[in-house]
Amino acid sequence: MPACPLCRFEETRPLTEIAGRRYFRCDHCHLRFLDPQQHPDPGLEKAEYDRHQNDPNDAGYRRFLGRLIDVMGPGLQAGQRGLDYGCGPGPALAAMLEANGQQMALWDPIYAPDSSVLQRRYDFITCTETAEHFHRPGEEFERLDALLKPGGQLGLMTRFQTDDGRFAGWHYRRDPTHVVFYRTSTLRWLAQRFGWTVEIREPDIAVFRSAG
Ligand SMILES: [Zn+2]
Ligand SMILES: [Zn+2]
Repeated sequence: MPACPLCRFEETRPLTEIAGRRYFRCDHCHLRFLDPQQHPDPGLEKAEYDRHQNDPNDAGYRRFLGRLIDVMGPGLQAGQRGLDYGCGPGPALAAMLEANGQQMALWDPIYAPDSSVLQRRYDFITCTETAEHFHRPGEEFERLDALLKPGGQLGLMTRFQTDDGRFAGWHYRRDPTHVVFYRTSTLRWLAQRFGWTVEIREPDIAVFRSAG
């Protein structure tokens, strides 16, 4: 069995196989994940992201992202510096936060690969519709922790996995670039791992806060 890519627990178990794609479950952090040997290559990933490009001016998409700002809002102050980690091709959330008085930096391995933004720490980080694409979530969350100032907050949006019985037909599972799926218990494991608190809003928002 492959080790868990988030908590590195070695005794993972098969979850299911769907159209030749092998999925596993970790009984330590409760992550569900695609066999790392079957990860999509960067060419397929970029084609899929370009196809799903969200229009930053689309009202429905802005409302969708606005829900995250509502949960993070009480901790956001004008002039704070934020990082949109995995901003994608149309950084709508960063534009909304800039309009809200925050100063935003962008990072994305494909669309904003300037790694100099990873050399400093931030008052807050947003990570929307990104974490399900992480090939090495353990390393990514360690990096996010290092990028966050003490007392900072990390706003995560990813659809939480709930029912193994419906996993095969779940729309989120069917996106070929989605490779890791978090349960609310996985988010609590993450918070404990890094000494954060977590506020969860099902079905897809978690805001972590680091100790001040
Ligand atoms: Zn795990
Ligand atoms: Zn996605």
